[in-house]
Amino acid sequence: MTDFGELEHYSAGDLLSWAVDCYGDQFAIASSFQKEDMVLTDLASVAVAKAVSPRRLRVFTLDTGRLPEETYSMMEAVRSRYGVTVESVFPDREEVERMVAANGPNLFFISPELRHCCCDIRKTRPLGRKLRELRAWATGLRREQSATRAHIPKVAEVDEKIKLNPLADWTASQVEQYTREHGLPVHPLYARGYASIGCAPCTRAIQPGEPERAGRWWWEQGNKECGIHFDANGSVRRGVAAQPDH
Ligand code: SF4
Repeated sequence: MTDFGELEHYSAGDLLSWAVDCYGDQFAIASSFQKEDMVLTDLASVAVAKAVSPRRLRVFTLDTGRLPEETYSMMEAVRSRYGVTVESVFPDREEVERMVAANGPNLFFISPELRHCCCDIRKTRPLGRKLRELRAWATGLRREQSATRAHIPKVAEVDEKIKLNPLADWTASQVEQYTREHGLPVHPLYARGYASIGCAPCTRAIQPGEPERAGRWWWEQGNKECGIHFDANGSVRRGVAAQPDH
């Protein structure tokens, strides 16, 4: 396993430049169009513009089929602002059909197991498929967001892919400040009290003072993760990129 310790001291912009130069078109930003993802995309566009060799900005998103309408507006905003193709990754149609036929469209409310099944089919497996065409990817995770994320490194090798969390040490105020100063588009649901935004049925606004991710799967206790980054026990999720085709 490679030691990425030195990169821990890099700024977010320098880290993205490093990834763009090292991995070129096999590096992409994972975005759900939350504030962090917008900052990441903006910084990556700068990194691409000043890359040593010609590079292109790559942004992908997991379109679960249950996203809020406002997220699609953000997708359009990114497409027009940066002139990029947002690469939508969809779940396997047959898997979704089988899951919904067996458990109904709102199975996530029935049990934690079925919620995880839905996240697995709509998010984790499609992500694994996407990662197979990449060597490196970046997320907008921040340590401050939750106890599960408190110790994420800026760079790590997971499933033989280089995973970057360039905003790991950013605070929410830094994200806000960057967003303001650069006039970035902001997901409309923040103005309605959302602090973290995912699928429409599984996300809601939070009350002042509640943890940032309290609105995700609000009916559940325990860790508020979908399984992409961490498993149900809060451990780093491995095996995502190594899944067989379904
Ligand atoms: S967040 Fe909800 S709707 Fe989206 S994949 Fe997970 S369980 Fe399914």
